[in-house]
Amino acid sequence: MLEVIAKFIELQQLEDEILANTRILEESPQRLAESMEGLEAARAERDVLASGLAETRSRIRELELDLLKLKELKEGNRVRITKATDDKSYKAILKEGDVIKQRTSEKEDESLNLMGELERIQEALPAAEGRFQENEAAHRAIKAAVTAAVRRAEEAVASARRHITDILASIASDHPAAAEQYAASSKIHHGKVLAPVSKGTCMACRLRIPPQLFNDLQASQKILLCPSCARIMYWADHPSWASPAPPAEAPPEEPAPKRKKPRRSAGA
Ligand SMILES: [Zn+2]
Repeated sequence: MLEVIAKFIELQQLEDEILANTRILEESPQRLAESMEGLEAARAERDVLASGLAETRSRIRELELDLLKLKELKEGNRVRITKATDDKSYKAILKEGDVIKQRTSEKEDESLNLMGELERIQEALPAAEGRFQENEAAHRAIKAAVTAAVRRAEEAVASARRHITDILASIASDHPAAAEQYAASSKIHHGKVLAPVSKGTCMACRLRIPPQLFNDLQASQKILLCPSCARIMYWADHPSWASPAPPAEAPPEEPAPKRKKPRRSAGA
């Protein structure tokens, strides 16, 4: 039965590999979405400044035209006041002149403020454009890395599945019941099939195994299930497999873009 358990351990490593790569596949859309979000924020910042620049320039041109018209009105007013025939019309023209002066002053103030605003936008825009370009380049790189990671993960999953089928078939040729039990258990426990037992404790659920059961497990004569988590137990400290005991939970694998191939197991 030791030979079967050795194959079970190999199957579990392949299942762990599938789980790690499935996680990469599941996280990929989120990574892309986050990168896209950063890019869109940078684009929005740049676009707000760019449209602000266009609007400010256009308003300044409007004001310049208004000021030209007011200048003409002022000139007309100046000529008319010299031709005023009575006190009443003189005062009316004078009042009109005051209004022109007031409106001119308002337009000049607005124009001056807008010139300041224009300067601020012109200073900020290149930096915003730079940030956008940076985000765009970063997004391209992330997209390429994610695409490559997805392809690698898909290949790794497919390859692991093929290995699992082969190993199960090789177990089934001599121990069909054991192969069936493994396959059924894999479905029930979503790929977390094996429970290493070290020093009398199930590493999957932390149950202390009853002493007699632990003795049976150490004898390694038949397939035994953990009374608590119902996973297939194996004695992790058996001299046949290298100590220390494998961890109950495989650590989550980072989707490192530079990695060529997902490792089968840590430093094995
Ligand atoms: Zn257990």
